[in-house]
Amino acid sequence: MSIIYHPQKYKIEDRSMENFIDSDEIHEILEAKKNPTADEVRAVISKSLNKERLSLQETAILINAKDPELIHEIKQAAKELKERVYGKRIVLFAPLYVGNLCINNCSYCGFRAENKSQKRVTLSTEDLKNEVKALEDAGHKRLILVYGEHPKYNAQYIADTVRTVYSVKHKNGEIRRVNINAAPLDIEGFKTVKEAGIGTYQIFQETYHRETYLKVHKSGLKRDYDWRIAGLDRAMEGGIDDLGIGALLGLYDWRFEVLGLLRHVNHFEAVYNVGPHTISFPRIKDASEMNIDNKWMVSDEDFTRLVAILRLAVPYTGLILTAREPAEIRDEIMQFGVSQIDGGTNIELGGYSQKEVKQDIDQEQFVINDNRSLNEVMEELVGNGFIPSFCTACYRLNRTGEHFMEFSVPGFIKRFCQPNAMLTLAEYLEDYAPEQTKIKGYQLIADELDKYEDDRFKSKLEERLEKIKRGERDLYF
Ligand code: SAM
Ligand code: SF4
Repeated sequence: MSIIYHPQKYKIEDRSMENFIDSDEIHEILEAKKNPTADEVRAVISKSLNKERLSLQETAILINAKDPELIHEIKQAAKELKERVYGKRIVLFAPLYVGNLCINNCSYCGFRAENKSQKRVTLSTEDLKNEVKALEDAGHKRLILVYGEHPKYNAQYIADTVRTVYSVKHKNGEIRRVNINAAPLDIEGFKTVKEAGIGTYQIFQETYHRETYLKVHKSGLKRDYDWRIAGLDRAMEGGIDDLGIGALLGLYDWRFEVLGLLRHVNHFEAVYNVGPHTISFPRIKDASEMNIDNKWMVSDEDFTRLVAILRLAVPYTGLILTAREPAEIRDEIMQFGVSQIDGGTNIELGGYSQKEVKQDIDQEQFVINDNRSLNEVMEELVGNGFIPSFCTACYRLNRTGEHFMEFSVPGFIKRFCQPNAMLTLAEYLEDYAPEQTKIKGYQLIADELDKYEDDRFKSKLEERLEKIKRGERDLYF
């Protein structure tokens, strides 16, 4: 079989790539801060509340805090910091699986090559368009396209599917931002995909622990830890500076993975002066013929804790929580630092456009546990005082490094993010929401408008909201 991209073709440049994840060092940091005092924990919390990034050593202090009272303080601080940095917004997206052919054998994944129970499907252009139409009809504006790793899904293929998605416009619907979760490419490949106008390129390292990595990635290109970890550096070289990192929780000790993620963030900041846009931290869920030992599975309690710790450690990096988790857990954890969630998720191939598709473990990568429709998720968010946002303004106005801007420009959220969230919410309420959601949604918008003291800005925002009611679309600051 000919592989279009291959590790050997690419020589990792010597600048700081070599071993920037050092397992021994991470273990030593965790060990050195094993029994932090209450004063040490509180000092780290207050540094973070000043919106300062935490070092690995400081994060290890939070990780090793054991007193329930201190853990409670960590969670409360994360909640407060989240509101200060992100306001009440939660960005919504949907995953769209394009194809499940795969040459790799990741022991945790239903798509792995040796799993003969999995039905292999690659959406045709027509199927893809139908999926996008169904997603637009539900109200989505932001998608992440997901692919197995296979020569068929090369850079040109990915770019073509991205263009197809952008081309579908149904009624008032359109997809304004397409993100990607796919295998790492070479630099030329990333350039090709970038030209199609993608938002974020996500690659999860799965585990930063090299030995475990080799244990669970049994064969295929993905077995090469270095090719994978350097993937997002090649994306940078190819001109994509909007990147998503992630660790699959349950493969190794979550404490180690949190520091691994942080090391990865530090690497980007040191080398490129800009950190990743998002961090994902999926927990392993059941998958077809899955074969994984459950020694490192993460409890709900530890999961909440680690989300809060990540929030405090990297105040300006988006945190993504997906429908792998059940609704109750999502609603609970969201307050401690999550900035993006998916809604109305269906990960069956072709599942959005077929009515009443039931989950079938042999037609999907893993089991999802939040099957609510997008509108149910919207209702829940609005009911809990969150402002659901479909905003794509920064990316389209070339305001890259938006997380940095939120940090550096005082009032950025109030002037841009929050009003744009309201404008995209109003579009949703006009075009897709049932009457009851519409009433609640407009009440939330009215409450938020009341909080604006700057009358000139407030009337500009009200004017745009009126325009949306009269049928104009895609208005933003
Ligand atoms: N095939 C590409 C790759 O491996 O990078 C694209 C991503 S894969 C389709 C999406 C992500 O799903 C993986 O990176 C992995 O973290 C996650 N995943 C795989 N199996 C899972 C499972 N059983 N439970 C939860 N997440 C899983
Ligand atoms: Fe393939 Fe990705 Fe699944 Fe691994 S995680 S088997 S690479 S689809």
